Amino acid sequence: MDSQRDRGDGHADAAQAYDYLIVGCGLYGASFARLATDAGFRCLIIDKRPHIGGNCHTENRHGINVHSYGAHIFHTSNKVVWDFVHRFADFNNYVNSPKAFSGDRLYSLPFNMNTFYELWQVHTPDQARERIESQRFRGEPANLEEQALSLVGTDIYTTLIRDYTQKQWGRHPRELPAFIIKRLPLRFTFNNNYFNDRYQGIPIGGYTQLFSRMLEGIEVRLNTDYLEQRNYFDSLAGKTVYTGCIDEFFGHDDGRLEYRSLRFEHALFDYPNHQGNAVINYCDNSVPHTRTIEHKHFENSQSDYTVVTHEYPQDCDSDRIPYYPVNSEQNQNTYARYRDRAAQLPSHIFGGRLSEYKYMDMHVVIESAMNRFRSEQKQADSPVLVS
Ligand code: FAD
Ligand code: UDP
Repeated sequence: MDSQRDRGDGHADAAQAYDYLIVGCGLYGASFARLATDAGFRCLIIDKRPHIGGNCHTENRHGINVHSYGAHIFHTSNKVVWDFVHRFADFNNYVNSPKAFSGDRLYSLPFNMNTFYELWQVHTPDQARERIESQRFRGEPANLEEQALSLVGTDIYTTLIRDYTQKQWGRHPRELPAFIIKRLPLRFTFNNNYFNDRYQGIPIGGYTQLFSRMLEGIEVRLNTDYLEQRNYFDSLAGKTVYTGCIDEFFGHDDGRLEYRSLRFEHALFDYPNHQGNAVINYCDNSVPHTRTIEHKHFENSQSDYTVVTHEYPQDCDSDRIPYYPVNSEQNQNTYARYRDRAAQLPSHIFGGRLSEYKYMDMHVVIESAMNRFRSEQKQADSPVLVS
């Protein structure tokens, strides 16, 4: 047996005591660890934060599960992913239907017949299409502004998109890629469901409880930064799964990748209902925040209190948490250099939103972990070629 090393903190680490060291206890790391553990591999997860769940983490306050890092609504059309998360939680039938403030008026999201009626008092799909058609951008959209103008025309762009996007990303929509806005449904029906996916809901009891169940039987060490002792941690396992920022892994020596950060201001009120909806967007420049979240409406929690979070986008410096990759051409080129270097490290796997430098929803992160674990298994199963 390998020699044991007592670290003086109750853990006796053996060299390569684990098959996988997993850096990051967010959704990618936890999903990978669950799949690997189920397949008989030994996993250790470390995270520099004091809690599990990464950005999906929730905290119970006065009987309300507060989404600590912004609203998280689970949605997917992938039955395998839906069945996977159901192993760890029951989901309710929550359907995300945010409202949007602009000027002094409230509109429905995503862009649908309700929005068109509120904006133009039109009530048939033909009338709405005619309105949009008369003000559409024609041509191949080269950026977010042109994409939005091409999809919904000037009125919706200036009322609900331009300022929100500027606040969210800290740059003009002309300087952003078109794909960001393509996430939002555009419908000519009276349907306020923000997502088109077949399955949607919130895990009853919160995401932290879901993660606790997902991590059953897996060793997790919190408040532990991989980059402070990377040689030691790498020595513990055959392979390292890294879910932090890829540029940080390489000491930023090929350049810094830009991320957008957020500041969350959580307020507790001693009355039961503040805004009547889980999510309200603020789409003009009269206020600096982009969204307010009233968490109790996600699970219809019964409480005499309510918790409301204001979400303020901000630049990301080294003291702040990186949330969104900023997909400029320059950042993509920098990322491509890191990705190529990462591919040269056979004992490291890079996955998740920060490591793949990609705007990924939760179901996509789980799919990515599943695919990666599957390809790992294929590699292990394939016969060694002897010349
Ligand atoms: P993370 O959750 O960021 O986990 C990475 C973990 O790695 C972190 O816990 C971090 O502390 C740890 N780590 C990093 N570096 C180190 C290190 N050196 N040492 C140790 N640990 C380290 N998706 C949806 O599907 N629906 C939604 O409604 C939705 N809403 C969102 C709202 C906001 C405001 C944001 C920011 C994201 C939202 N998402 C949503 C996306 C969702 O948060 C992500 O898909 C998911 O959390 C990504 O998981 P991850 O494991 O890749 O990353
Ligand atoms: N968006 C907007 N107005 C809104 C909501 C979204 O202009 O009221 C744009 C904005 O550019 C945003 C993008 O659509 O970055 C994607 O929105 P989504 O709600 O999917 O963003 P996320 O929840 O990931 O922050």
